[in-house]
Parts: sequence; structure tokens; C-alpha cells
Amino acid sequence: MYPNILRHPGPTPIPKRVQLAMSQDMISHRTPEFVRLYQETTNRVKPIFGTSQDILLLPSGGTAALEAAAVNTVSPGEEVVVITVGAFGNYFVSICEKYGFKVHKLEKSWGEACTEEDLTEFLKPLSNIKAVFATYNETSTGILNPIEKLAEVVRTHTDALFIVDGVSCLGGAPAEMDQWGIDILVTGSQKAMMLPPGLALVSVGERAWKIIEETNKPAYYLDLLSYREWAEKGMTPNTPAISLIMGLSTVCDLIDEEGGFSQTVARHELMKNMVREAMRALSIGLLTSDEHASPTITAICAPEGLDLPSFIGHLKEKYHLDFAGGLGHLQGKIFRFGHMGYCFPSDILQAVSLIEAGLQDFSYSFEPGAGVAAAQNVFLNSLRK
Ligand code: PLP
Repeated sequence: MYPNILRHPGPTPIPKRVQLAMSQDMISHRTPEFVRLYQETTNRVKPIFGTSQDILLLPSGGTAALEAAAVNTVSPGEEVVVITVGAFGNYFVSICEKYGFKVHKLEKSWGEACTEEDLTEFLKPLSNIKAVFATYNETSTGILNPIEKLAEVVRTHTDALFIVDGVSCLGGAPAEMDQWGIDILVTGSQKAMMLPPGLALVSVGERAWKIIEETNKPAYYLDLLSYREWAEKGMTPNTPAISLIMGLSTVCDLIDEEGGFSQTVARHELMKNMVREAMRALSIGLLTSDEHASPTITAICAPEGLDLPSFIGHLKEKYHLDFAGGLGHLQGKIFRFGHMGYCFPSDILQAVSLIEAGLQDFSYSFEPGAGVAAAQNVFLNSLRK
């Protein structure tokens, strides 16, 4: 009877209007109607990537887009740097190893970002790097890597391609792919893009296209050249996720109605600050520093003396508030509060209030209302500006 309050870092809630858009009658992907839908929609998504390049649509999850970026640009035996600050950075490591690339792993502990100094030092002894892979937003820890600065380091010190996973932040964090010098940027539909899983979005810059044209790739379904070829005709090489593309068109309407993408980004920044101030007011720790905190997901440390899995289970069972636990060695130590896509300041106030209710049930010592008041204060201050 009660709706599940989904506050995971993906999949995320789908707006009703997007659900309705996705339930339109099916159309064929080889018709003028589809060409119109595809061209209009992909053009409207470009500001989210900060690019004038085409946005390619793969009927897949985010991992296939990461794999496509790797297999299209690098050949077995070639050297790559993979920056990893958590579980999803390790996806890129696994993909690169699986394809036989020689991987130099720049690894930071979970909860830390990779800084430009880290990358500059790491690159010093390396001379033959084909590509540098990085995760913009590390979903397992709530770190937003300083991707613009990392791009500058790659540009300054190497001829390598800079390939970025934006799966858990594109649509909620700023991205200026062309201006920052990112060569390939990928994302998935099920997080800040307000859609169900099943659609990957990929944009490729000119430098990367040159490399892709020269690379002899063991890829058929993930061959980006075939996506480019068909995109020129306003279509995709195989049957696309047509319903999700219909939904994506409505997502673009919603962003326009919010006042444009910069307003959407500002809302995410506000929600991040609300969550962080609320936890501070409750004396609950945060895994990451403010400097590198994600605008889409916050990793919250186990409140002192509480059994975290029981607490998260209790919030779900009694209050229908659904958080994600920690991954890997952070299991039982943190929970992850997703605040991206179709999520608003009012949702943050609701979730903080229910966290407080749960804390009272667990006899945690705090001043009731302190978290809500802190989050509300951040919200009200933003309205006064
Ligand atoms: N990269 C990041 C940063 C993610 O958060 C995820 C999924 O959570 C992925 C990649 C993998 O995406 P998918 O599960 O859609 O394959």
C-alpha cells in the first residue's frame, strides 16, 4: 500500500510524465517518425554532456558503454592508465584487463578523490599511454573526481585519450566534454537521467574518432563506427530502446521546464548540501570531504553504536525508506543516500525526517529535529539568494 521511497544511487524514481511517454504506441525504428524522435532528442541531450558531438544511443546498461569505449580505442598489449577510487573504477580495470591491455592502475583509498597532483606524479614515468580511464562520480563512495583538472593533466602530459564514466552523475553534475578535453564520455539512463535501466548514452570527440577508425576491434554490437554511420541517418544499427528514447524526450522537457540544465545542476548541489548539513547536525559522519563530495550520492557512516544493516532494514520495513548499503569492504560501514534525477529538496526533508524517526527507534542520542532543521536551513537560504 505504501509507496517505496527509493533513495538508491540508481535505479532512481521515474517521473509520471516520463512513464506515460514511455507507454506510447510502439513505432518502428526505420521510419521518419523515429528519425525525428532520435534527432530531436539526441540534440537536446547535448548540453548535459557539454558537447557539439553526436550523442550515440546503445540499447544497454552503462557497463556496455564503458566496454565500448575501451574496445573501440585500445588494442591488446597497449598501455593504459585506469584511475580507480572505488568499486566502479574497478569495472574499468576489469574491462581493460579482460581485453588484454597493459593496465597501470592509479588507485586511491575508497572515500578519496584522485587529484591532479596524484595523476601528474603517476604519469611521470610512463611514456606510451594510449588512454586514461576515469570515473567522474564514484557511486560506491560518493566521490566526484575533479574531472576537468584531470583532463587538463592528461592533455598537458600525454597524447592519450581521456575516457570518462559519467554513469552516476551525468544529468546532475556539470559536464563540459568539449571544453575540458574529454575524448569519450558515457552514461546510463537509470540514474540522474530519470529513466529506467536499458539505455546507454555515449559521445565521442574528434581525436577519439580518428583512433577508433584505425583500431582493429573485436566488436560487432559495440562497434561505435556503426553507431556513427547510422546516427548520420538519424537511426541506430540495431533495434534501439525505442520506449526509453520516447521517455528521454520528456526528460528533456522536464529539464527545460526547470529553467534549463544549469538549474538542474544547481538543484543537485543544493540537495547535496542539505544532506551533508543534516548529517552533521545529527553528529553522523560522512565518508568524503566537502571538496570532492558528489552532488548525486552521499555516503553516510554508520551512526555511533548502531548496527547499520538492521538500521537500514528497519527504515525500509517501517518507513518504506529505501537506501543502499556499502559495497565491498564498506559493507556494514556506510549507507548510500541517492539524491539524483527525480528528487527534490522536499524529498530530502522527508528522508532526513524518517532517518531521525529511525534513530529514535534505535535509542540513538541526538536532538530530535536537528537534522531536519539543518537541511531546511540550507534550503531556505537557497531560496533567499
Ligand atoms: N559506472 C558507474 C559509476 C556506476 O554507478 C554503474 C552502475 O551503478 C556502472 C558504471 C555500471 O552501469 P550498469 O549497471 O548500468 O551496467
